[in-house]
Amino acid sequence: MRRTILILVLQLILTPFITAQEKRPLPQLRYAENHSLTWEEAISYYQILDEAYPEAKLMEMGMTDAGRPLHLFVISPEREFDPAVVHRQGKAVILINNGIHPGEPEGIDASAQYAADLLSDRRRMNSEIKNCVIAIIPVYNIGGALTRSPYYRINQNGPDEKGARRNTRYLDLNRDFVKQDSRDARAFAEIYCWLDPDVFLDTHTTNGSDHQFTVTLIATQPEKMHPEMEEFFRNKMLPGLYSRMKSVHNNEIVPYVQYTERGEIKAITGFEEHPYYSTGYSALFNSFGFMTETLVYKPYAERVKGTLQFITELARFTSENHKEMLALRAEADRLTLTAREYVLDWEQDTARWDLLTFRGYRWEETTLPLSGRKTGTYNREKPYVDTIRYYNYFKPALTVTVPDAYIVPFAWEEVIERLKVNGVEMSQLGADTTLKVESTYIESYEPAKRATQGHFFNTGVKVRRVTQEITYLKGDYIIPVNQRANKYIIYMLEPQSEAGFFAWNFFDSFLEGQDWYSVWGFESHLKELLDKDPALRSAFEKAKKEDEKVAADPVAQLQWLYQNTPVSELEKRTRLYPVGRLFKSTGI
Ligand SMILES: [Zn+2]
Repeated sequence: MRRTILILVLQLILTPFITAQEKRPLPQLRYAENHSLTWEEAISYYQILDEAYPEAKLMEMGMTDAGRPLHLFVISPEREFDPAVVHRQGKAVILINNGIHPGEPEGIDASAQYAADLLSDRRRMNSEIKNCVIAIIPVYNIGGALTRSPYYRINQNGPDEKGARRNTRYLDLNRDFVKQDSRDARAFAEIYCWLDPDVFLDTHTTNGSDHQFTVTLIATQPEKMHPEMEEFFRNKMLPGLYSRMKSVHNNEIVPYVQYTERGEIKAITGFEEHPYYSTGYSALFNSFGFMTETLVYKPYAERVKGTLQFITELARFTSENHKEMLALRAEADRLTLTAREYVLDWEQDTARWDLLTFRGYRWEETTLPLSGRKTGTYNREKPYVDTIRYYNYFKPALTVTVPDAYIVPFAWEEVIERLKVNGVEMSQLGADTTLKVESTYIESYEPAKRATQGHFFNTGVKVRRVTQEITYLKGDYIIPVNQRANKYIIYMLEPQSEAGFFAWNFFDSFLEGQDWYSVWGFESHLKELLDKDPALRSAFEKAKKEDEKVAADPVAQLQWLYQNTPVSELEKRTRLYPVGRLFKSTGI
């Protein structure tokens, strides 16, 4: 009896506390009042949703440069949170990334609103995302989001405070997807590898132009897809999303406005998405990728609403078409395993275009009131509608044959680490081994004069391939090109990739050359060599007669001799790119 009373008393004391915890109220989002969630507010918002709904889960993933873990919020109508199981069940996984540039926070607020709306309406959840699991990165660039000011992105029409573009290490994370200098990017890659999303969306804001549209869209460069996937993407998915935005939300959208010349917009060119951008990265894994870019001059609430509408339609379209989309992606994954050619670089096909309806503002010459500078401006009092060209076709500019495997020496640990983070499988040589490989010599390249992201980008790389025997050491890594991450492997290890490891200076120390000779020591050695080798002596005499430079310059004579004696064997290592290409036909 006493025990019962004690329990009753305890219950009386604890009940209000438990109830209070269970019913933490969900705060009102304030984007209509020009306020965007801070990082703390966003995480707390998702924590409340996690506590309130069994269909939601907030997880802490890898560490970021800000010293705080990256969060991932998952909505799964059937409460299954293991992505491998979700894929096996034939459901589509959608990943939404927000706040990569925290001064462009529409997606942060729109995703929070979307999650709260869906979770609180079970019928809507069951109908709209029946065949999907939605994963949301609440805020990717945490360091940038913690540094808020009204003065970042000063030309932008709200919110009242914006985050900084760069992360704690001053890296632009939308250039860091493949080289992964930031912990943020490595944590992202781990999430990407674990989720293996079928659809990916990265949310942004653009200040590149002015026109009547609120939402502009970058979509994966279709040519990067397997042909049937490309056909579906160009002819069904993109038109489907554009028409739903118009018909369901009365919010017409347009491709990201990248125009050919300043002034009135006469044509738009497609976005060439290098893999260091988010959708370029997602294309390496055959995901259907998108970036929303809302226009800075439109009111913040409108931009959040537009982003929310796009998220809603993207999820609905995916749920309705999941079978076809998953089959196309599975086929693309299958072809990725066996493709023996890979396009490293693309160029715009200026002979092909589509027509689109463009709603612009007239461009007028004007004098700026404060500085008196004469310039042009878009006059919002003068809207117009026009049909313009949209150049969104690309053709291969550089294609490489794909080896059966690459070999990366143990020494290049930063490269190995990044390959591993991206899920690349590899093995190590059990003993020192001489292998016949196709090796690559860097004939010429141009290092940048100014650093980008802390790197002196190498461009214009010209190579020469030579098949030869090279001795590798125990522990060197063999990376077979027969796996999910094939495109990442090829793109990053080929030295001519615009943003591969070579371009980002990961291998630069090998360019500094090998042992050299000292003039005096080499001369006495040469005399001995020439005395013993009459053929070499007569070739040398001939070179002196026929080549004016050799005849006139003693140093050129030494150089000639160096290159024509056995010692020049050492030269084999000069400018030899450390990564070897292995082909079964030449015998691994
Ligand atoms: Zn951005």
